[in-house]
Amino acid sequence: MYRLIMVGGGHAQLSVLKALAQKTSLDIDAVLITPSPYQIYSGMLPGWMAGHYNLSDCRINLCPLAEAAGVRLIFSKVVGIDAKRRRVELSNGTYLDYDGLSLDVGSEGDTSWLEAVGERLLPIKPLGDFVQRWPAILTAASQQDDYRLVVVGGGAAGVELAFAAQHAFATQRCKQASVRLVASESGILSGHAAGVKARTRALLRQRGITLYQGRAVGITEGVALSSGESLRADCLIAATGARPPAWLRNTDLALDEHGYILVDGQHRSLSHPNVFAAGDVCSRADIKLARSGVHAVFAGPVLARNLIASIGGQKPQSYRPRKRSLYLLATGPQYAIASWGEFSAQGHWVWRWKNWIDRCFMRKYGALNHGDKE
Ligand SMILES: Cc1cc2nc3c(=O)[nH]c(=O)nc-3n(C[C@H](O)[C@H](O)[C@H](O)COP(=O)(O)OP(=O)(O)OC[C@H]3O[C@@H](n4cnc5c(N)ncnc54)[C@H](O)[C@@H]3O)c2cc1C
Repeated sequence: MYRLIMVGGGHAQLSVLKALAQKTSLDIDAVLITPSPYQIYSGMLPGWMAGHYNLSDCRINLCPLAEAAGVRLIFSKVVGIDAKRRRVELSNGTYLDYDGLSLDVGSEGDTSWLEAVGERLLPIKPLGDFVQRWPAILTAASQQDDYRLVVVGGGAAGVELAFAAQHAFATQRCKQASVRLVASESGILSGHAAGVKARTRALLRQRGITLYQGRAVGITEGVALSSGESLRADCLIAATGARPPAWLRNTDLALDEHGYILVDGQHRSLSHPNVFAAGDVCSRADIKLARSGVHAVFAGPVLARNLIASIGGQKPQSYRPRKRSLYLLATGPQYAIASWGEFSAQGHWVWRWKNWIDRCFMRKYGALNHGDKE
């Protein structure tokens, strides 16, 4: 029997579970290794922080999906891969052998340069830990005068989190609390059009979120910026640049210069063709692909098709990303900015559009949808 091991229940792997549920004729022994039964959907996380969603709206329960797909679940983490011997090592020291491997474990946030701030550091990843800690931040912000939250990271995640936190403070009895956003010297939303950046900066001003640009380093009180300024932080959210999971170094898979798994257009490892990877963890050898949920989601059906094709000895297909990806950035009070190439727009209608897309995605994977809280 063909032994398939799936590692991580990320966006692309959800498509594999769906596809396996429809391919009941496959004679395989499939296992999914994941640290948690829940996959939190980052697209709705800012909406949850802002108070628009319940947590159950934003997380996918992997258990029923795995059951429908005939996939066994192992709640653990992979810490190494011996691709030559075709085995993975789990965090409890046990090994599992495979014939085919599908990896979708995402990326990690690099917070090493902020750690001097100690316990007030709140990394966005793992998302499961973040959602556990956020309610205590809200409580502290409601009880302390002049509570200061600093978000470090000027990408889509950092921007959305800053808006969400500000909206939560404004609506949940934290009137004394304020939000500061620190982006690198190149500014916010690198890769997005000038119009999107201008709209975002204007909204940040309107909501009273101060934007700082410069290299930041953690200090005991908060962060010190390359401009010489220092910012006090009662909480420092780190939504900083992605880095590959450190344990990938314990594998014999071909990696790119940063340490991400090198794959071809079919999302197959360049060194080991029985290993597939999609989402943030991989790097395409043929094209430059941004690390984003958009590509993790759209590569999913191709990953699923190719895994199944490889079991049956059929030809795999390539994932060809669209020229432009649509990004809908939540900005607090059920309001959002749309970014698509040079096109940008904003409004409550953009939020409703985003909400509709996100809920359709979640419904596809059986998440509970209770309807808007507000
Ligand atoms: C707040 C926020 C907002 C964002 N907004 C956007 C946006 O608007 N648009 C966009 O395109 N992108 C956005 N992103 C980026 C997007 O979330 C990521 O690019 C996307 O989640 C990557 O998906 P993935 O499938 O690669 O991994 P993930 O979604 O990170 O899933 C990886 C899974 O693997 C599991 N795992 C990790 N390590 C192991 C291990 N060793 N063994 C087993 N399992 C493991 C994890 O628990 C997790 O369940 C945002 C991110 C954040 C944090």
